[in-house]
Order: sequence, then structure tokens, then C-alpha cells
Amino acid sequence: MTDTLTSGDVALMGVPLDMHSSFLQGPAFAPGRIREALHSGAANLTAEDGTDLGSHPGFKDTGDLDVFEQFGPEAIAKIEVGAAERLATGARLLSLGGDHSVAYPLISAHADRYEGLNVLHIDSHPDLYDEQPLGKLGHGCPFARVMETGKIKRLVQVGIRTMNAHQREQADRFGVEVVDMRSWSADYTPEFDGPVYLSLDLDALDPAFAPGVSHHEPGGLSTREVIDLIARFKGQLVGADIVELNPHRDPYGMTAMVAAKFVKEIGARLLTR
Ligand code: MN
Ligand code: MN
Repeated sequence: MTDTLTSGDVALMGVPLDMHSSFLQGPAFAPGRIREALHSGAANLTAEDGTDLGSHPGFKDTGDLDVFEQFGPEAIAKIEVGAAERLATGARLLSLGGDHSVAYPLISAHADRYEGLNVLHIDSHPDLYDEQPLGKLGHGCPFARVMETGKIKRLVQVGIRTMNAHQREQADRFGVEVVDMRSWSADYTPEFDGPVYLSLDLDALDPAFAPGVSHHEPGGLSTREVIDLIARFKGQLVGADIVELNPHRDPYGMTAMVAAKFVKEIGARLLTR
């Protein structure tokens, strides 16, 4: 699946893993549902800037990684290898989770390729736990693991509204810049120097816009605000993931359609800017 990739392409990659979820399974089925929404015929594949992913020769789907119903360090290592193989072609990677534990190996692979990598993390949760009952690879832990690599220049978190005392300590320890919902304003524009990886947890959105997630956290961002943030932030976007869609909780597939919209907007930015 990777032998057709060349430099400048955008590789779509599914990561069907949800065994590191602390509360519910379901996100393993997300990559398939997002592709269905993207190709449903209900909408075209043109992003708002006019980039048509449907006809762009550089937009390539490289399929799903073989991690379904797997877990632990072996599954995490497979994800890092799958990402690194694609990045080695010079392509940029747009990954579809999966629960948020997949961000740790995805960001690690990007940090090895791009020195001075910045991370923009959009989520209702800081995901900075040192450990969860299911271990250090839980979907509430990936940004602690990422920061422990020492390879990340800046981690900026947006949309946060569940910060507890332990994660506040972790944020301070790692120097994380947290823009919580209380301080959010619609014209907030993060500025980065150098390469940027975007990790987008769909529960950053208010459940009114995106009910198909495992953890409903009211008081969140609108779909429009996230689209504008994706378009507006300053820096060189080099890779992204969209995680935590839970199709079991998604009436009418509406959250899958929101995710498909983000695929178009992120895909267009990766291809053209
Ligand atoms: Mn998350
Ligand atoms: Mn979350």
C-alpha cells in the first residue's frame, strides 16, 4: 500500500485499535465509518479552499494497519512502524483512529522525522495521566508518553475542560501550554515556528455537534470553530490524526460526517500549504 507514495502525497491510514480505551470500545470501527461518510455521495470531496481530494493525484488511501483487537506495546510498535514506513516516502500522514492511545506512536514517528516538532492537541481532555488502571498506554496517557520522549518542542492543548490536579501537575512538569475552554475565544490563533503535528480528539467538540464519542463532555467547541482553527493556525502542518469516533454512539452517522469534513479540511492543508 505504501509503494505508490511519493514525496508531497498525503497518505490516509486507518488505525483500528480501541483496546486502550478506559470506558467503552467502538473506535476500532471508526476508520471504516469515516471512509464511508467521505465516499457516501452525500457530499463531494472538495475542501472549503477549493482543493478537491476526489481528483487530487496526491491524496492516497493506504488502508488500515493490522491492529484490530490488539493491544499493548506490540500494537503500539506496529503503529509506529506503519507511520514511519509512510513518512520515509516523503508523504504526509493523515491517520484515522482508533482511540487516542494511537497518538503516542504516531507523534513519535513524526518527531523522529521532523526535528523541533510542535504538537497542536485539540481535545476536551489533557490526556496527560502518568498511568491509568489499564496501564501506561491508556488513551488518557498519550501526551505524557509523548512529552517523555524529550523530542517535542511545544505542546499546545486547546478545548480542555477536564483538568484535574494530577494532570495539572503533569502539564506544569512538561511545560504544556493549555488553552482551556474558559480562556478560549473564537479568534485564538496559535503560532508555531517550524513543523506542526495536529492531534484531533472529536470529544473536543460539544456533544451537540459530535455525539458519537465515548466520553461526552458538554461545553465544547463547535464544528465551525474547529474548522477555522485548522485553517488559521500558523506553522507548517506535517501530519495529523482524527481519533475517538465511536460509531456505536453515533446517531445517523453524523459524527462520522464531521470526521469526514475534518479529513477534507486537514487533507487540503497538508496537500497545499
Ligand atoms: Mn483524547
Ligand atoms: Mn478526549
